[in-house]
Amino acid sequence: MKSLVVQKYGGTSVGDVQKIMHVADKIIELRKNGKDVIVILSAMSGETNRLVGLAHSITPTPNQREMDRLLCTGEMVTIALLAICLENQGYPAISLTGRQMGILTDSSYTKAKIKEINSDVIQKYLDAGKVVVAAGFQGIDETGNVTTLGRGGSDTSAVAIAAAMKASICEIYTDVDGVYTADPRIIKEARRIDRISYEEMLELASLGAKVLHSRSVEFGLKYNVPILVKSTFKEGGGTLVTKEDSSMEDIVVSGLSCLKEQAKVKFIDVKDKPGIAATIFSSIADKNIVVDMIIQNVGSDGLTDLSFTIDAADVDSIKPTLQEISTSIDAEYSIDSNISKVSVVGAGMRSHSGIASKMFKELGKSGINIQMISTSEIKISIVVNKNDTDRAMQVLHDCFELGKS
Ligand code: ASP
Ligand code: MG
Repeated sequence: MKSLVVQKYGGTSVGDVQKIMHVADKIIELRKNGKDVIVILSAMSGETNRLVGLAHSITPTPNQREMDRLLCTGEMVTIALLAICLENQGYPAISLTGRQMGILTDSSYTKAKIKEINSDVIQKYLDAGKVVVAAGFQGIDETGNVTTLGRGGSDTSAVAIAAAMKASICEIYTDVDGVYTADPRIIKEARRIDRISYEEMLELASLGAKVLHSRSVEFGLKYNVPILVKSTFKEGGGTLVTKEDSSMEDIVVSGLSCLKEQAKVKFIDVKDKPGIAATIFSSIADKNIVVDMIIQNVGSDGLTDLSFTIDAADVDSIKPTLQEISTSIDAEYSIDSNISKVSVVGAGMRSHSGIASKMFKELGKSGINIQMISTSEIKISIVVNKNDTDRAMQVLHDCFELGKS
């Protein structure tokens, strides 16, 4: 059996015909070396936004099934153009849609989850000597409707296809040369991370590091497909997302991330009795709004405060629900959108102590107030005033010496 290479190229890597021709050159190189190749593509950069804009120019709440029908077209364009390039240079290729590859998803339009992939179709074309050019981001549900996987979802398509085809690695080509200890636009000493565990990457990805779609990392973890993130435009570098090994535990803090578009909701003087939290959070869950950090104070005089964070984008849609809850539990609430969440992530936290105290001490010295704290085995997150975000990132990057290799 020939060795199989699975590569995904993001929107900026296929942003125009010139760039698509550059991708074709890279694939031809692999073919010359006798590899079987599956390429997963995103839409041209800006295209999915443009399509969303078109729909939103009609209504702020477009029909979700039709939205997916619309959004899936961006990837159709790039896959066909790349296949045209390859064929034109004498390299047999075939572009395939989510439907053609049997990428079966659930029916939650615009955020569908992959359930199954029919690897036979892809295999058949590889066996016939073709480069398979696969549309990322899309699938079909049981009734044959087109679905999409959520913004940034073509990473997930790529890792899922790599898993289904039993590839030993999934390479993700993008406009940055890897995952950094912090966003280099905020922290100038940020350093590229060579290797990081799936668990750490999952935390970073869901906490705002936008390099990889978090579900792609979940797939990598579940099926043990290492993910190599590399730049399309620059040789070398890269970050390997892979299984945790003992050497990774030596690194206590691997990276930082921040989420700026957050809001804090606080219920004041809530009755401290069974069932109140359930009332609050089930009403919010019914509206499909994701709640993150939840903090309840120790009660006194039968009353307590309860705060939680949500995406700033959900503020408008949650207001009517908060009003209903407020009436039903007889407690006032407030919303503060002037916050952000800063997180420190590292597999080594499992075996090292004192990380939280060091973090809080340095922030205190810099006069940065911590409004909320939450922790997991490998992460500490804090909520700070939005104006303090970049400074908090810098203080933490310095205190954990993340700029040093
Ligand atoms: N084109 C889709 C988006 O812009 C999917 C992707 O690029 O991963 O979100
Ligand atoms: Mg992306």
